[in-house]
Amino acid sequence: MRRWIYVAAAFASAAVAIAQAPAAPFDSPLILSLSKDETLAQGEPDWGKLEDETMRHYQALLRFDTSDPPGRELPAAEYVKQVFDREGIPAQLFALEPNRPNVVARLKGNGRKRPLLIIGHSDVVNVDPAKWKFPPFSATRDGGWVYGRGTVDDKDNLTATLMVMLELKRQNVPLDRDVIFLSEAGEEGSTRVGIQYMVDQHYPEIDAEYCYAEGGGVTRVGGQVKYAGIATLEKIPYAIELTAKGVAGHGSVPLRSNPIVHLSNAVGKVAAWKPDIRLNETTGTYFRRLAAISSPEQAERYRNVLVPNSKAQADADEYFLDNEPAHASMLRTSISPNILGGGYRVNVIPSEAKATLDVRMLPDEDPAKFLEAVRNVVNDPAVDVRFGGRDTRPKQPDARLDSEGFKVIEANVTKHYNTTTLPSMLTGATDMAYLRAKGMQCFGVGPAMDVEDGPKGFGAHSDQERLLESELFRFVRFHWDIVVDLARAK
Ligand SMILES: [Zn+2]
Repeated sequence: MRRWIYVAAAFASAAVAIAQAPAAPFDSPLILSLSKDETLAQGEPDWGKLEDETMRHYQALLRFDTSDPPGRELPAAEYVKQVFDREGIPAQLFALEPNRPNVVARLKGNGRKRPLLIIGHSDVVNVDPAKWKFPPFSATRDGGWVYGRGTVDDKDNLTATLMVMLELKRQNVPLDRDVIFLSEAGEEGSTRVGIQYMVDQHYPEIDAEYCYAEGGGVTRVGGQVKYAGIATLEKIPYAIELTAKGVAGHGSVPLRSNPIVHLSNAVGKVAAWKPDIRLNETTGTYFRRLAAISSPEQAERYRNVLVPNSKAQADADEYFLDNEPAHASMLRTSISPNILGGGYRVNVIPSEAKATLDVRMLPDEDPAKFLEAVRNVVNDPAVDVRFGGRDTRPKQPDARLDSEGFKVIEANVTKHYNTTTLPSMLTGATDMAYLRAKGMQCFGVGPAMDVEDGPKGFGAHSDQERLLESELFRFVRFHWDIVVDLARAK
């Protein structure tokens, strides 16, 4: 899964000009003549020197073909473990299936605070090699970019978290909390070998107060940073099935009980229905902050959407449904009818027809009540309305915006990217849901990417996936700071 480009289109078209100062310079190498304590207080890894090493690990990880399915994360997991072994960092493989291990490594703190978990997943989505200019597992460097499957999903996070662990150990940073590294298998569609396995079978190995994982990212427009999206919450996927039943008959004699007709009406009603708009802390903050960095016309809409039960809110919603559908989805539990089936020959009235709805519930939605509401909207005794089978996600609370874990991110978004942090509720589902359900506060982060890259076919899951080398390095520095600021002994 990835990412976070909801407002991208709006920004690209509006050509909002935001003054952009350069990122904070990083020119404070570790001063070896200091005593150990002074070094720890003032020292900073020598990032200039670490860029080569960062690139080496990044390319090595990209060159493992971990396409999922089938996954085959083993060589990548062994690579990561060997890197940790060389540095004396205890690391262990946990595998439900021998070829698909997860890797856990832990740096011990003094136990004053509960641990911090940092995550990257090692599997990637499949490729069509014919579509790639550079072979998808070559990790080719060209013109300041690195090309390859996984460059932005998720071997960027995997590399950053690996580098942070290595430097924490080398700098001997005293920690108030354990820092736990997790390289997950199976994030791209086989979570049973990955996060579900770790949560169900080995939770004590990864139990933490906070986690930083994928799901966020910094958006650049025209080469300029515009905002940082940090994932703090996500919707919960459900399937609802509508099944219409009637009596089969001869097509020459139309019947009012025809299930195709009943089902079509039901789908039409459900699609036209607008479930109540409900904002939460994340989406409220998101729209307020987005308004502050948008053109006057856009800003008005983003503010209007915050006024409950108003005409202005309804107008903004209408605009979103037409022009910014991801924003419309963020306002409510959404329904998209995605499968429709019924009938098998032209002269037969079928006895059954069925539709499947992709439902993305707001985190506070009551599923049973929502199902009842759908039944009322359909309002047809010939149409059965019930939940269908689906890999859903557990119910989860927001990651708190007033928590230390979020404040540390905001401060470092300012330090490294000099931009606004937009807390975001993902409309899709990620592995963080399993951890949030355990009470962990999880935040999705990621490097800066160009908004123009997606439509050109360079984004996550597309062909020619790529990342700017300079943004990989900046992301590693950012990741170092969020981990150190949250975990360093105070
Ligand atoms: Zn991913």
